[in-house]
Parts: sequence; C-alpha cells; structure tokens
Amino acid sequence: MKIDLVNKTILITGSSDGIGKMLAIELSKLGANIILLGRNQKKLNNVYDQLNTSTSLQKHLIIETDLNTLNNITADEMFIAINQEFNDIDGLIHNAAILGTMTPLRDYDMSIWNQVIQTNLTAPFLLTKALLPMLATSSLPRIIFTSSGVANIGKSFWGAYSVSKFGLKGLAEIFADELESTSPIKVFNFDPGPTRTNMRASAYPAEDPNKVKPTFELLNCYLWFFSKESIESNENYFEFSDLSKKVNST
Ligand code: NDP
Repeated sequence: MKIDLVNKTILITGSSDGIGKMLAIELSKLGANIILLGRNQKKLNNVYDQLNTSTSLQKHLIIETDLNTLNNITADEMFIAINQEFNDIDGLIHNAAILGTMTPLRDYDMSIWNQVIQTNLTAPFLLTKALLPMLATSSLPRIIFTSSGVANIGKSFWGAYSVSKFGLKGLAEIFADELESTSPIKVFNFDPGPTRTNMRASAYPAEDPNKVKPTFELLNCYLWFFSKESIESNENYFEFSDLSKKVNST
C-alpha cells in the first residue's frame, strides 16, 4: 500500500523498540515527521539515527519520558514542547505498553498492577486529552490505540495487562463516539496479533521466535489507518488477521 505522508507529523509512543520502532522508521521513509516517545534515551537516539530525512522539510523529535509517571502537568508540558516544533499532529499511535507479570490475580503485586494500568491505560488517556487541540487542526487526524487478543476474553495469568487492554478498548470507543460528531478525528483500536518482539518473547518464552511474524508485516495495516478509505469506515476495532487480508488484496 502506497501512502504519501509528506508534511504529516506522527507521534508514536514506545518507538524505541518492537512494533513502534518499525513504524517510526517505515513511516519516516514515506515522508512523515516522526515524534519518537520513549523512556530510554540511548535506544531513542539509535532509532532517531535510522529515520529518513531525505525530504528537505522533514524533521523529527525525541520526547524522552516515562509514561509510568505521566500526569496532567507533564502531559501539558509535552504539548507545549511539541507545539514549539510542529503546528499540528496528524497521527497519534498509542503503542507503548508493558506486560507486567504472568501471575494469578490472587498473587498479583499491587505496585506492578499500578504500573501496568498507568502505562497501558492512564497514559494514553492523558496524552490523548493533552494533544487533542493539535490533532483537531490536522487535515487527516488519526488516533490509533493498540489492543491485544486478551482485550476481549479474560484468560488466566494475564492479570493487569489484560485488564488494561479491556479498559483501553472502552477508552477508544468513548473517544471515537465523542469525537465523531464534533471533530474530523478518526479513532481506531488495532490488535496486531502475535508479532516477533521482546514483549512476545517474554509472554511466550518457549516459543520459537522465527515462527512469529516480523513487525514489518504490520505496516500495511497501519498505512490503511492513514488512508482516505479509512475515513468511510464505521468500525473502530480491527484485528490483524482480518485487516491484513483486506489491505493486502487492494
Ligand atoms: P516491546 O516490548 O517490544 O516494545 C514496547 C515499547 O514500549 C518499547 O519501546 C518500550 O520502551 C516502550 N515502553 C514501555 N514502557 C514504557 C514507559 N513506561 N514509558 C515509555 N515507553 C515505554 O512491545 P511490542 O512492540 O510487542 O508491543 C507494542 C504494542 O503492541 C503494545 O501495546 C502491545 O501490548 C501490543 N501487542 C503486541 C503483541 C505482540 O505479539 N508483540 C500482540 C498484541 C498486542 P523500552 O525500549 O524502554 O522498553
């Protein structure tokens, strides 16, 4: 799928590794200005160095922040820092997440519970709220939340991670419903399915990583979210297995 992202600015949380890193590099090749957001400066610098800068007007920004400590004030400070560099944001991809522990709920550690809910659910809420004014002025505004197979069915040992993704599904639906009639912003929630990353390896340590799809195979699905075609979609929730068939057949 070919999409022109020249003059588009896309913020990707958790872009220091895994799916977010692939998206940052590939979307920059299509001309997008990329705002990298992560907590590890060294890893962010490494990704920054791999971003495309062949378009003369293209520029990128690193926001080093730990989403586990994000609050209203720091989210507003982030808005100011981004607004100094860019007039608007065309894409906000909420990709960062942590797995927590694979533990029965009766043994689940409270501080890990709080970290997972804060990073995976509360931070996307705060960040969306703070950045809405910059999305509202874009000509093709998109917010993409990242779901999971355990967002719909409660499964033993998935604990806070699963609860956070259930919550994120509700958050995405509410934002979609509220923004549909009041703004041009389209809100999507995407389950990428099993993908070869550190998180997948932590959740399934016995699995052969070579049997899991690489991050690059997700690219066309993300590009579809930025296409004109997706404007017509009445759906908000997408799974890789369905969306990939649709986008790869067009
Ligand atoms: P990775 O663990 O490979 O990458 C997660 C990214 O999020 C890293 O860049 C990580 O930074 C960042 N991050 C984590 N915590 C914070 C924090 N507190 N502040 C800032 N950044 C943070 O995961 P994936 O690429 O696999 O996952 C991406 C998304 O896809 C997640 O939302 C996940 O739930 C979802 N998903 C993944 C699946 C898979 O099979 N891989 C399946 C279904 C859903 P750092 O490098 O510092 O750790």
